[in-house]
Amino acid sequence: MKINTLILGAGAAGMMAAAHAGPGVLIIDHAKAAGEKIRISGGGRCNFTNTGTTPAHFLSENPHFAKSALSQYSQWDFINLVTDYGIAWHEKTLGQLFCDDTAKDIIAMLQTEMNKAGTQLWLKTDVGAIRHDGTHFQVTLIRDGQRHEVTAENLVVATGGKSIPKMGATGLAYQIAAQFGLKIIAPRPGLVPLTFSDDKFKPLAGVSTPTRVTADNTSFDEALLFTHRGLSGPAVLQISSYWQEGETITVNLIPASDLLDKLKEARSGVGRKALTNILSMHLPGRLIEFLKDDLSLQGNIGDQSDAKLQAICDALSAWPLLPAGSEGYRTAEVTLGGIDTDELSSKTMEAKSVPGLYFTGEAVDVTGWLGGYNFQWAWSSGWAVGTAIAAKAD
Ligand SMILES: Cc1cc2nc3c(=O)[nH]c(=O)nc-3n(C[C@H](O)[C@H](O)[C@H](O)COP(=O)(O)OP(=O)(O)OC[C@H]3O[C@@H](n4cnc5c(N)ncnc54)[C@H](O)[C@@H]3O)c2cc1C
Repeated sequence: MKINTLILGAGAAGMMAAAHAGPGVLIIDHAKAAGEKIRISGGGRCNFTNTGTTPAHFLSENPHFAKSALSQYSQWDFINLVTDYGIAWHEKTLGQLFCDDTAKDIIAMLQTEMNKAGTQLWLKTDVGAIRHDGTHFQVTLIRDGQRHEVTAENLVVATGGKSIPKMGATGLAYQIAAQFGLKIIAPRPGLVPLTFSDDKFKPLAGVSTPTRVTADNTSFDEALLFTHRGLSGPAVLQISSYWQEGETITVNLIPASDLLDKLKEARSGVGRKALTNILSMHLPGRLIEFLKDDLSLQGNIGDQSDAKLQAICDALSAWPLLPAGSEGYRTAEVTLGGIDTDELSSKTMEAKSVPGLYFTGEAVDVTGWLGGYNFQWAWSSGWAVGTAIAAKAD
């Protein structure tokens, strides 16, 4: 079978590329449905972009690489597409846009776009050997137990990262990169809960509180959630992408509060109340109970010196914690690292040393923050690939 373009992976980036790559496109996936991660994303409502998307919201060895694709196809382009399809959406917080109804609307929209372009979609299809004769790619595909030899001018690798193997994630993109001699930035789990060697946070499981969490000179002001295994919540997921094993993170439990003034006020007003009771008016009671011994939170508020109140506030604003690890790819929302961007054109995502070979989406060493940025990268980088292929045919 001879085609123009074979796309491996019918996820967010692959479907976007397929819809724009012109005629003669076959897109395959080993899953039984296209866009499975879209379906479960954002609690089933898909946080499909962020109105505030800029290149600064992405991690990469080359922070400039994402600029070209993000400017060719921006969050506003995707918002227009969603709006044209009559999909109702709302902003939840911090520029994060979600479907009002269901993430399936986004998948249906992309499938319609692919149908309009005449794309063929093969599901439950495995990838066998890949060969390259200098001008064409010969790929063995296995579908319903049958082998198909496909010859394509362009091969697009859109198989994502390693996150959530249960949902079909594999390291295929890295294997293909290695086969063609392309460098890879070591993949690791990102946007992932952090774990601790003892079960020390177990008594706090379920407690959520606003924080500023800092690691590697980067801070996020969002909620932190204590879990049976350790720490989660948006602030921790965000910082996990910056945290390196063996390093501490610093948690500020009173990020926006003038707690010292409030404690001093309480001391002169309700001096006979227990210090822990006063603190529990500003922080979760279970957290204060948990910290009571470590911070010597004894006595009434009226008995506390200025120095003691200051020391309490200092401790609450810089709580150093040493994670043992993370929950790993089992629960990570994304995979950091991937195909080294030095190997790719930032405009077209084509491998510089292998004409016709493209990488897009999460497989590439560009990883977004939590909040719709990762899908925006998939749309932008997928669009860059698709339009570059279509332009070649012209
Ligand atoms: C639980 C969860 C929630 C998320 N929520 C959000 C969110 O709300 N907003 C946001 O911006 N990001 C979110 N993300 C991240 C986002 O889903 C990814 O960044 C995005 O899907 C990456 O797109 P992609 O097309 O590169 O890869 P994917 O969407 O992962 O698609 C890759 C495709 O390749 C297929 N594939 C893999 N290996 C093979 C193989 N060997 N053979 C054949 N096919 C293969 C897979 O089945 C899959 O369909 C979430 C991630 C998770 C895990």
